Amino acid sequence: MEKLHHIVVVGGGAGGLELVTSLGDKLGRKQKARISLVDAGLTHVWKPLLHEVASGSLDANANEINYRAHARKHHYEFQLGRMSGLDRANKHIIIAPFRDEDGQEVVPERRLQYDTLVIAVGSTANDFGTPGAQEHCLFLDSLKQARRFHNLMLNAFLRKNHEALQGQPHTLNISIIGAGATGVELAAELRLASRELPIYGMNHLKSSDVSISVIEAADRILPALPGRLSSAATRELERQKVQVLTGQPVSEVRNDRLIMKDGTELPSEMTIWAAGIKAPPFLAELDGLETNRGNQLIVEQTLRTTKDPDIFAFGDCAACPQPDSDRPVPPRAQAAHQQADTLFKTLCHRLEGKEAVPFVYNDHGSLINFSKYTTVGNLMGNLSGRSMYIEGKVARLFYVSLYRMHQVALHGFLRTGVIWLMDKISRAMHPRLKLH
Ligand SMILES: Cc1cc2nc3c(=O)[nH]c(=O)nc-3n(C[C@H](O)[C@H](O)[C@H](O)COP(=O)(O)OP(=O)(O)OC[C@H]3O[C@@H](n4cnc5c(N)ncnc54)[C@H](O)[C@@H]3O)c2cc1C
Repeated sequence: MEKLHHIVVVGGGAGGLELVTSLGDKLGRKQKARISLVDAGLTHVWKPLLHEVASGSLDANANEINYRAHARKHHYEFQLGRMSGLDRANKHIIIAPFRDEDGQEVVPERRLQYDTLVIAVGSTANDFGTPGAQEHCLFLDSLKQARRFHNLMLNAFLRKNHEALQGQPHTLNISIIGAGATGVELAAELRLASRELPIYGMNHLKSSDVSISVIEAADRILPALPGRLSSAATRELERQKVQVLTGQPVSEVRNDRLIMKDGTELPSEMTIWAAGIKAPPFLAELDGLETNRGNQLIVEQTLRTTKDPDIFAFGDCAACPQPDSDRPVPPRAQAAHQQADTLFKTLCHRLEGKEAVPFVYNDHGSLINFSKYTTVGNLMGNLSGRSMYIEGKVARLFYVSLYRMHQVALHGFLRTGVIWLMDKISRAMHPRLKLH
């Protein structure tokens, strides 16, 4: 029997999971190719939800997808493991030993053969080597980190509530370094948590006892987005009593404070790093593949790596050129979603000996969600190329639709409709905040 062409996708995130789902449904099901997904975790949660998991406004369990169950349904194979290296001559990826929570080796280092390899391992926070950041900051790169943040936040509220009861000083200072979309949205989620927690029994702590600051090195928040959005977001944060500090690079993080470049200090008992991203460092040592300073694999417009025609990369871990621009495609969920679509076509073409499809990023705009309070954003007109400012319920609808599109790609329209209905019922039956 002829050996099936083996497509291996590494990373089942916003882009990778959509890609293996379509490949499995189209090629795996009909035995036209063997499709495998390798991921370092057992379950998938869409990354743009992590700040909601951290604040407790979203229960991750209800939004988690188990790769094994999903693989069975969509005709691909799943391998649990972290890719650590590459052997291009033999067409093998190297998967690091898998260890349990106690550090005991469960599976030794192994190799997986591929005919076509797709790397979609995402990105992690970039602390730019700021002293103290690794030791004292919390990060939001994974579900594990988001859950850890949530537990620490609940304990901090509990401690401050007790101190208030004892008549002691009890202000909780929370700082978010980086006022991109993640930092701004997280600030609003935390403000909501600080308002709702007293309702659930922490009667001595008031929302005003929780001081939330967003610190940005650039001269305005949301520096990558249009000025009008930035002004609207600043107004909204101030309305929610979030302190906004701009033009303030952080030069050191300590366990109880931040030191700014100009020497001023800001008390901070919980510090979250949300300024900038970089691709995982192992990519920079991947058997001669070309990377940039942020460890991103450099790809052509077809998402093919520049040094190997059998290896593709997309999403946050890839630097893909855009026509008529000197900047690569931005690291965003909507870009990963669109690239998964294009790469699906390319990989189907590849089996038929046809040309790869060039990727053209279609920026639909940017939306910033301030928890349950409001949403602001700009939508791009497809034909005019001009942006339209929106806010409130309409903006919220577009914001939510990005996640629903991801769910449609993974489950189809019918099941996404059922999930939407179940979400509504769950919201009506459970407390607004996850309390454990
Ligand atoms: C809190 C937060 C909010 C965000 N909000 C938005 C938003 O509103 N809109 C928007 O467009 N974007 C948003 N983003 C950015 C968006 O999440 C990313 O651009 C998107 O997830 C990138 O998709 P990806 O498939 O490249 O990587 P990811 O979704 O990060 O997936 C990477 C996958 O690779 C796996 N992996 C990593 N290393 C390895 C390895 N060595 N071996 C095997 N598997 C590995 C990981 O487990 C993960 O499953 C947000 C990001 C964060 C952190």
